[in-house]
Amino acid sequence: MKKIVLASGNKGKLKEFSEILAEFGIEVMPQSQFNVSEVAETGTTFVENAIIKARHAAEVTGMPAIADDSGLEVDLLNGAPGIYSARYGGENAKDSDNYMKLLDAIADEKQNRSARFQCVLVYMRHSADPTPIICQASWEGEIGFKVAGDNGHGYDPIFIPQGHSCTAAELTSDEKNALSHRGKAMQLLLTQMQAKGVLD
Ligand code: IMP
Repeated sequence: MKKIVLASGNKGKLKEFSEILAEFGIEVMPQSQFNVSEVAETGTTFVENAIIKARHAAEVTGMPAIADDSGLEVDLLNGAPGIYSARYGGENAKDSDNYMKLLDAIADEKQNRSARFQCVLVYMRHSADPTPIICQASWEGEIGFKVAGDNGHGYDPIFIPQGHSCTAAELTSDEKNALSHRGKAMQLLLTQMQAKGVLD
């Protein structure tokens, strides 16, 4: 069975990738199983950070690797928090620290609260792969005025997807996966991996 290491410690992501790639006879293994250390995300773009993470995992394990990098861009904040989404409220910030800081930052703005989630997925055949497969997708919406919903994670309780009147945290996980930046990027990655002969 072909094995791919996932450059993430997130259990939800491991489950999502495992389920999708199992259909193609691929076992997705978490990098924690190989004691891969966290690597500093020193890039200034989602693409660079995803490559840094995939390259590091491939280097340490000697296996092909998948990494993702994602975040929220708010137009009123010129794209912030962007690649700093996870640490917007400070190092080790909780999700609620991050989204409360964001609600606060734009509290006086009643209009034009447009925003989008971005997701970049990278597949590297090996650590020196000069042509990684890179897929990108986004999910448009706007920032609400209050926190709502218990599903999801991160900024979901304040993100109202385009065409909806509820937050992403009020959608079921199936509804979210069908629409979300990560769900769409995964579909693109699968198509690319098939086209490039990585999947049988
Ligand atoms: P990472 O890609 O795991 O580094 O995630 C970056 C940060 O972006 C997360 O900590 C969340 O704050 C935010 N984020 C990414 N995707 C989502 C999502 O689907 N919902 C809510 N927040 C998200």
